[in-house]
Amino acid sequence: SGEKAIMAVAGCVAQAEGDLIFSRAPYVDLIIGPQSYHKLPEMVLDLVGGKEARVINTDFPTETKFDSLPEESLKQGPSAFLSVQEGCDKFCTFCVVPYTRGAEYSRPVEDLIREAKRLVQLGTKEVTLLGQNVNAYHGKGKDGKTWDLADIIHEIANINGIERIRYTTSHPRDMDKALIDAHGSIDKLMPFLHLPIQAGSDKVLEAMNRKHKAELYYEIIADLRKVRPDIAMSSDFIVGFPGESDDDFEDTMRVVEDIKYVYAYSFKYSPRPGTPAANMASMVPEQKKAERLQRLQDLLNTQQYEYNKQAVGTTVPVLFDRYSEGKSQLMGRTPHNVAIHVKGSKRLVGEIMDVHVVSGGPNSLTGEIVIHDNILKAAE
Ligand code: SF4
Repeated sequence: SGEKAIMAVAGCVAQAEGDLIFSRAPYVDLIIGPQSYHKLPEMVLDLVGGKEARVINTDFPTETKFDSLPEESLKQGPSAFLSVQEGCDKFCTFCVVPYTRGAEYSRPVEDLIREAKRLVQLGTKEVTLLGQNVNAYHGKGKDGKTWDLADIIHEIANINGIERIRYTTSHPRDMDKALIDAHGSIDKLMPFLHLPIQAGSDKVLEAMNRKHKAELYYEIIADLRKVRPDIAMSSDFIVGFPGESDDDFEDTMRVVEDIKYVYAYSFKYSPRPGTPAANMASMVPEQKKAERLQRLQDLLNTQQYEYNKQAVGTTVPVLFDRYSEGKSQLMGRTPHNVAIHVKGSKRLVGEIMDVHVVSGGPNSLTGEIVIHDNILKAAE
């Protein structure tokens, strides 16, 4: 149409490297950091109106961001995210988050409860409490005291209409007793936890500045399994961190063999500009990283497939959160956060129904809706 396109770069790297991006890429018009997304409409108008030739916004006004997000943006569907915390004080040596998202900031409890209630009115049944370091949550409570994540999970579980609660992403050092106990005492808290360990070797964990040993991770999972024996685990893994030896990598493989993940995310280490690990000596050669990643992913994929096959024959409550018109299929997640597909009517999106698992594939399950006698009787 002859109109000029606006090219924008957004996100953490834009935040950290904004000036460099501008000088190296003259065609980029707009740079925006994660704390300033709410200012995007204003920034675009400045460009279109010719008020500015190029715009950059990498400020850190965390508090105002949450205040100025429009209420309509809340509508997310049966399963919704609720941001409770942003930023991180941990400074893992491979990660840009503490530099780009700033220090930990926790939203006040009253704001979260208000938002959770609004989500219910808009049709949400499942909330995932979100934060870069979500279990470090320490916000102002209704009583003026500092509340932790377990406190807000208890509070949100009391909201009528919220049927399921999850949270992500957690750090092992912040898995305190109250949070572990919540998994045993709050039925609405789903039996699933994404708890990244990143590597199995204590030497590598130290170089990553994770500030815990593998033993702590084992202890947390043992404690979780005591209170919630069926809890399913997932994790993130980085292979080929600088200095990772063959033996160190075998420690990571051992963790996977011991814990048995329902699924996990794994990556080759890649340096992030400005992080301490990017300047470490003894980088692992690409070829070695690729071989290690392949072995790790083969094991993780095998575990995931095994897990899915074992689910065949069970009946699980599923929240249908999407519908595929093409396949006439409902899609949802089991309590253990496994994707499941079911033939059924679009009208059932937003319902939680019992599903009999009939097959388990490498990445997801297939099931059939269970029609209970009482439903048939009610329909007669
Ligand atoms: Fe924080 Fe997680 Fe990044 Fe570590 S990896 S610095 S805990 S956000």
